Amino acid sequence: MSSARKKLRHLVVVLGDQLDLSASTLAEFDKERDLIWMAEAAGEAGHVWSTRMRIAYFFSAMRHFREALKAEGLPVHYHEIDDSERGLMDLLQDTLEDLQPEKVICTLPGEWRVLEELRQACKEASCPLEVREDSHFMDVPEAFRDWAEGRKAIRLEYYYREMRKRHQILMTEDGKPEGGEWNFDKENRGSFGKDGPAKDKPVPPSFAADAITREVVRLVNERFSDHPGSLDDFRWPVTREDALTALEDFVKNRLPEFGLYQDAMWTGEPWLYHSLLSPALNAKLLNPREVIKAATDAYQAGGAPLNAVEGFVRQILGWREYVRGVYWWKMPGYLELNALQAEARLPEFYWTGETRYRCLSESLQQTLEHGYAHHIQRLMVTGLYGLLLGIDPVEMHKWYLAVYVDAVEWVELPNTLGMSQFADEGIMASKPYVASGKYIQRMSNYCSGCPANPAKATGEDACPFTTLYWDFLYRHREDLSSNRRMQMQLRNLERKSEDEMAAIREAAKLAWANPSGMEVPA
Ligand code: FAD
Ligand code: SF4
Repeated sequence: MSSARKKLRHLVVVLGDQLDLSASTLAEFDKERDLIWMAEAAGEAGHVWSTRMRIAYFFSAMRHFREALKAEGLPVHYHEIDDSERGLMDLLQDTLEDLQPEKVICTLPGEWRVLEELRQACKEASCPLEVREDSHFMDVPEAFRDWAEGRKAIRLEYYYREMRKRHQILMTEDGKPEGGEWNFDKENRGSFGKDGPAKDKPVPPSFAADAITREVVRLVNERFSDHPGSLDDFRWPVTREDALTALEDFVKNRLPEFGLYQDAMWTGEPWLYHSLLSPALNAKLLNPREVIKAATDAYQAGGAPLNAVEGFVRQILGWREYVRGVYWWKMPGYLELNALQAEARLPEFYWTGETRYRCLSESLQQTLEHGYAHHIQRLMVTGLYGLLLGIDPVEMHKWYLAVYVDAVEWVELPNTLGMSQFADEGIMASKPYVASGKYIQRMSNYCSGCPANPAKATGEDACPFTTLYWDFLYRHREDLSSNRRMQMQLRNLERKSEDEMAAIREAAKLAWANPSGMEVPA
């Protein structure tokens, strides 16, 4: 080994979702004695069956970050993907053996498994590892644990209020919430009415692929050709500069209507008034503090109403921090929870989008095309269908982790397993998010283009959501009987006659046998 290698002091490991020049791991970086390490690994891309869009997003953002590091004069050891199937830690072990740093430094990864593997790799190389807190977040796992431990139930609302007070966001000088209320949810449940979204509604910017992204797209299409999804329309910001442009555009053009239409869906409209900032936030191209500040500044300047700004702040300061707290509080056991004992396999059409049902085909096809669906599509279409079908929550988790460009386990897992599948015994949600097709009809125009009828639970044009909703309530009526918030739904179930329920149970068998609706009955 050369003397240069012997001299290496710190190997600073930067993972694909840690693309932040102001990270604490780079604070006392010494260009002469330290080295940054980054790697594209086939093992990570294939850990779950990632869509090509997700793989390309991370590789492109990483390669752009490598250029940003170089522009700062910082030395980087960057492993580009090759033909081998080697995992991240195999690659790291090679470097540790080769360069023998005095210490490895890393920001807390976004996945428990990766943290364990990192510890193991360093242990095997007899190299000390220092894991630093991720200063990108506004809370730390230990503080969340202290807040959560000992409470009978942890609820977002109370955590969010604490965070508002702690960070003095949307608070008046006398310590009251801005506008006199902590939340404006009642004003944030609008749908579009029969004419749909305004024809001149703002269109979010699309960031044209530069030479680096084009090369990544070519490579991913070649190397991961058997992975799902397409790369025909790569539009995501992959640099900090472009992410800041995306933030500015959202705050100016879409934030004012964000609150009102937060839960609405519409055919052929994947973006509506959503921010599309989650990939940039999760890759750490944007800091949540600056995102929140941009929104609250817009409110102060009269550029966006309080219901919209509060609704947006709640997502980032509330939900985003809350799910991270739950993740680190409950892992690794969280991954094994399956409160409703759901064991069915994920239907194949989740990977192709080929289904007769309009709500599902719209949500799935945009997911496979763009790596994006907004919250209500994830929760109340694809997630709800999985819950009603009784899909194994780990199968659901692997799918959600694979298909979205913003998917990192700390945020994806509690949302999927807890909020969407109610598999965590009510840690995340006080009741399962179950509804019939009528909810989807109210919040979208999907049903008008669908062969099924959301009002029908049985018959040829039965809506599978409606059929399976009643069947779900029936199957779980005892598990849910002590849940105060389920009482109204259970009372409605009791009103069904025995004959009606028997017909619904038969219809549910048909829905299970043919969940995409594509099979022609024999
Ligand atoms: P907007 O609607 O514009 O919201 C603004 C921001 O708030 C988002 O960018 C995001 O950072 C934050 N946010 C909103 N809701 C949540 C939430 N429930 N949890 C955490 N942050 C939230 N979000 C991810 O970032 N990664 C995931 O892998 C992910 N998986 C999900 C899986 C399921 C089953 C469900 C129901 C939700 C999931 N979410 C996930 C949360 C949410 O759907 C996305 O954050 C949101 O759709 C991203 O789009 P956007 O940036 O346009 O969000
Ligand atoms: Fe979805 Fe049912 Fe509406 Fe069809 S009728 S779009 S399946 S909710």
